[in-house]
Amino acid sequence: MSAPKRFPASLKSATAPQRELLMPQRHLRQATADAARLARPSGTGLDSGAVRERMVARLRAEGKFDEQVLAAMAAVPRHEFVDSALAAQAYEDTALPIGHGQTISKPSVVAHMLGLLMAGGGARQRGSLGRVLEIGTGCGYQAAVIALLARQVTSIERVQGLHDKARLNLQRLALPRAPRLIWGDGRIGHAASGPFDSIIAAAGGEDIPQAWLAQLAPGGRLIAPTAASGRGQVLVVLDHLVEGGASCWVRSEHEAVLFVPLKSGVL
Ligand code: SAH
Repeated sequence: MSAPKRFPASLKSATAPQRELLMPQRHLRQATADAARLARPSGTGLDSGAVRERMVARLRAEGKFDEQVLAAMAAVPRHEFVDSALAAQAYEDTALPIGHGQTISKPSVVAHMLGLLMAGGGARQRGSLGRVLEIGTGCGYQAAVIALLARQVTSIERVQGLHDKARLNLQRLALPRAPRLIWGDGRIGHAASGPFDSIIAAAGGEDIPQAWLAQLAPGGRLIAPTAASGRGQVLVVLDHLVEGGASCWVRSEHEAVLFVPLKSGVL
């Protein structure tokens, strides 16, 4: 969510395989394939559940996050989704660069947005997010968390290099339900996988695309960072209600946020 950060100067002393991975002139698809083969940092303690538990304990102490969401976050190794050189920061409450000028969202923002989705009428009844559409797969971290809270996940990414990276990242995890990853423009949703009980956007647009409303099932909830007049970008929640046989969409605006832009077309 924050402006992309530069890689720290210490990367210059990276080991040979890391240097190879981060060389900007390497074709990204090749680099991501290489990354999958590289050994992850060991002896850093990042592979232990305790470090994730500590991150979740800090979030829990704030007293405002959904317990099911926190449990899912405690199960997903966030350091596996960022470059090795940034892995040590993976359990801080911070956005980190994932390449292509994009970022992995802050853990507290992921927890907050998924909590708002879980609080939707349909999800409360089911105790699950049901069928989910995520727009903006990025590195795949949030898709992995959602997969532990949902019946089915479809996640769309417009940047092919990130879509490929997410596929490799998610393949390494033994998720009970692998997210269905789509390379495409998420502004048109994914009608073939819908309708969806929950829709979540990880990039902020000027408006909520009509296709998302059309693909939101009755009783479903959508959450998306969206431009709001005079307030910059805010989290918008839309509930698809059915009253007297007719659909209506109830909109509420939450706090101001700063997400990367929702863009049209694919790269
Ligand atoms: N959920 C991600 C966060 C990624 S940042 C994670 O856990 O890492 C937001 C992502 O939205 C970026 O990767 C960006 O490329 C993508 N994006 C922006 N506009 C899009 C669009 N129209 N369709 C699909 N993805 C889009």
